[in-house]
Amino acid sequence: MSRFIEIVEVGPRDGLQNEAVVVSVEDRIELIRRLEAAGARRTEVVSLVNPKRVPQMAGAEEIMAGLPKAEGRSRIGLVLNAKGFDRAVEAGVDEANISLAASDGFAQANSGMTVAQQLDMVAEIAERAHNFAGSGAGGPRLSATVSTVWGCPFDGEVSVEQVASVVARLAELKIPEIALADTIGAGDPWAVTRKVEAAKKAAPDATLRLHFHDTRNTGLANAYAGVEAGVSVLDASVGGLGGCPFAPGATGNIGTEDLVYMLHRGGFETGYDLEALIETARWIGGKIGKAPASRLSRAGGFPKPRA
Ligand code: ZN
Repeated sequence: MSRFIEIVEVGPRDGLQNEAVVVSVEDRIELIRRLEAAGARRTEVVSLVNPKRVPQMAGAEEIMAGLPKAEGRSRIGLVLNAKGFDRAVEAGVDEANISLAASDGFAQANSGMTVAQQLDMVAEIAERAHNFAGSGAGGPRLSATVSTVWGCPFDGEVSVEQVASVVARLAELKIPEIALADTIGAGDPWAVTRKVEAAKKAAPDATLRLHFHDTRNTGLANAYAGVEAGVSVLDASVGGLGGCPFAPGATGNIGTEDLVYMLHRGGFETGYDLEALIETARWIGGKIGKAPASRLSRAGGFPKPRA
């Protein structure tokens, strides 16, 4: 059997949040439906943050209400604090993804907290989640995404030790899945190898996940390095939706269809239908009035032999 790589689709949240055009709740629900039909099993669908700060993500509750529970489909909500976690529970997300940073500069800018304070916030959420589970009420599964692992727009370089210490604390808090994110797309594949190895040592029992932005054209090379280092969960966004708030005009996450193409050609399984993804990329491109940045949405898949 070939190795399965799980791709978490982040276009409806990380992608659209960083696009200038605000997409309606109906179209966002339609995007999620199309992505799930194309094979997405885990999709980042909403952000439980103040809509005044992020107007692109307004309507989280409406989106969740418009997505009936579906077997084998997990909807993820991003949370930045305990209040957001409570909202995520209320809205009925399947997974709450807690966002924190590896660098103080980014943590301060994003949340007004230091990294140490953000880790205390994660501890508070972990306790609430634990209580939910203990009461039999269920509650969402937890994951944490560590931003700025490969560079910070405020502090510059982020060391392997810094990353390892944050990951070790998340492991102590028993966060079952830890994502390392190249928030500003500054990473290179060799640094991916080093930081993945350090994270594995720091959190041997956690599932590692990787999140790359293609800001500087190293996204797919970084994904390759991550897979080679043994990571089997990666984020991507359909059409390469999104951008980078610290690099105006930059492209977004690695395109789901680009990653799927590379992995399928390499003999991996993903569960995605490449043609359906390309169609979805073009559809959402039409909604935001922009041709998708992904290469596959332009070139198509592997050529069929001409008759
Ligand atoms: Zn991102």
